[in-house]
Amino acid sequence: MAQIHCLDLKRQHQKIKAEIFEAFEKVYENTAFSGGPFVEKFENEFANFCDTEYAIGVNNGTTALHLAMLALGIGAGDEVIVPANTFIATAWGVSHAGATPVFVDCTADTWEIDPSKIEAAITPKTKAIIGVHLYGQPFDIDAVKAIADKHKLFMIEDAAQAQGARYKNNVVGGFGEMACFSFYPGKNLGACGEAGGITTNNAEYNTHIRSLRNHGSVVRYYHDEIGYNMRMGGLEGASLSVKLQYLNEWNNRRRAIAKKYQSLVKNDKIKMQAQPEWADGIYHLFVVTVEDKNGFVDYLAKNDIVAAFHYPVPCHLQKAYADLGYKQGDFPNAEYLANHCVSLPMFAELTDEEADKVIAVLNGY
Ligand SMILES: *Cc1c(COP(=O)(O)O)cnc(C)c1O
Repeated sequence: MAQIHCLDLKRQHQKIKAEIFEAFEKVYENTAFSGGPFVEKFENEFANFCDTEYAIGVNNGTTALHLAMLALGIGAGDEVIVPANTFIATAWGVSHAGATPVFVDCTADTWEIDPSKIEAAITPKTKAIIGVHLYGQPFDIDAVKAIADKHKLFMIEDAAQAQGARYKNNVVGGFGEMACFSFYPGKNLGACGEAGGITTNNAEYNTHIRSLRNHGSVVRYYHDEIGYNMRMGGLEGASLSVKLQYLNEWNNRRRAIAKKYQSLVKNDKIKMQAQPEWADGIYHLFVVTVEDKNGFVDYLAKNDIVAAFHYPVPCHLQKAYADLGYKQGDFPNAEYLANHCVSLPMFAELTDEEADKVIAVLNGY
């Protein structure tokens, strides 16, 4: 058997190549390359998928987070609470808006933002809490929302890894003021290119973000405020419409692989993300922790399994945020995860044979 990687994008793209190329041809014939009808079509389909009033397509997920902050009026002097263990872009949105991310630890077992740690991080400057559905598994939305409501803060979902995940039987994307999505190619729903999106039920945010992403303009060449060029491309939008049709099927296949890992791996040295009963994740990544991360990865490599790390350095210890003054030991659970996490093969096209091999190798560790 050939090497098994964490992610193999080629398999998915070979399968749907004809459909994608047909969609690209329509964009090409219409020269609808920037925004336009193919982006609008995807926006309507994605709002429907997320059960929200609006979806706004933008050029990537980092932009989505940035625009969400701007739409909330968050800027210099404001603080926004962010989990310490996430992909760094969750914090970029806050920083790009001129505000300061304030990190909090995750729980030791779900690896999601720990609601019991949030209140201690709230100051008079705090404006919002961004929860991240990490690895595709929802955070405890009701617990975080209760704290946000009590302190009159906005709650935002970073759903970049969680298109189609469910919390208490409802699909994510409509729980907070806004939810921010990435359609980076490696995400569960990934464009053939760079893309992102924002979902919301709020008409004002929708209008404002549509203007901000388009040079601060609603009527062409009339600019109401200083804006940005953050539109989604037509080719990206068209590829997303094709792929959205398959998303539930792909997510269910990931769930089935996860279930195999969870039920058939029997090795006390390997710990998995706890599965609260309210979370129905989509397994963007399948992360485990082991005490001897490097030894484990070497062992996997000897068995033709190529692992990865998501993420090896928590946000508060990144050089980019050295000025904020955090230190080692501030967030023990996030730091433990960073030092011990290993991502296993997880993508919809992984075969049963490959998953079984991964399981056998894990059981032999
Ligand atoms: C991918 C990702 C982002 C950023 O999305 P880009 O499209 O890469 O800019 C933000 N937050 C999380 C949690 C992500 O995984």
